[in-house]
Amino acid sequence: MSGEEIIVGKPKVATASLAGCFGCHMSLLDIDERILDLIELVEFHKSPINDIKEFQDRCLIGLIEGGCCNEDNVEVLRKFRKYCDILISVGECATMGGIPALRNTIPLEECLKEAYLNGPTVCNPQKQIPNDPEIPLLLNKVYPAHEVVKIDYYLPGCPPSADTLWEALVALLDNRPIELPYQLIKYD
Ligand code: SF4
Repeated sequence: MSGEEIIVGKPKVATASLAGCFGCHMSLLDIDERILDLIELVEFHKSPINDIKEFQDRCLIGLIEGGCCNEDNVEVLRKFRKYCDILISVGECATMGGIPALRNTIPLEECLKEAYLNGPTVCNPQKQIPNDPEIPLLLNKVYPAHEVVKIDYYLPGCPPSADTLWEALVALLDNRPIELPYQLIKYD
C-alpha cells in the first residue's frame, strides 16, 4: 500500500478494458463460485462489472485489459495508475498490444483508408472517414500498458485463465508473492 492513506473496509479492486475484447474480463468471471469468496475479500470499484464509471476511492489493485489504441485509453490508464496501488497488465493485449497491435506495421492513414474507403466490404457513399470530435483520437500505434505507465505485474495468456487470475488476486490479498504453477502458464 502506498503513501499514508488508510483504506477503510475491504480492499478495492478496479478493472478496465482498453483496447481489448473483454475476454480477460470474461475469464475473471470464469472463477465461477469463487466469485462469492472474492467478494468476501474485496469490493469491486470502478469496473465494467458493476458499471462504476469514476474513481471515488483509492484501490489496492487495478486490473488492466488491453493496450492503448486511442487517447481515451491513455487517460483511463493514467487514472488507474494514479488511483491503484498495484497495477496489473492482464493478458496479451495489455502486456504486448495483442491483436490490435497488428496495425502497428501499417501507417495509421492507410489503416483508416482501408477500413472506411477502400476495403472490399466498405459501403461509404459519402467517402468520409469518421472525424466527430466525440470519437477519441486514434494513436499512431497501439501501445502496451507498460509503455504508458508503470506496471507492477503481468499475467500472461489470451486470456489468462480463471485460475491464473484467482491465484494472483488471492496471493496479493494475502500479501505474498504471486507464484503461478507451470500448468497455468503453459499454452501448448
Ligand atoms: Fe481479448 Fe486475449 Fe486481448 Fe484478453 S488478451 S483482451 S482475451 S484478445
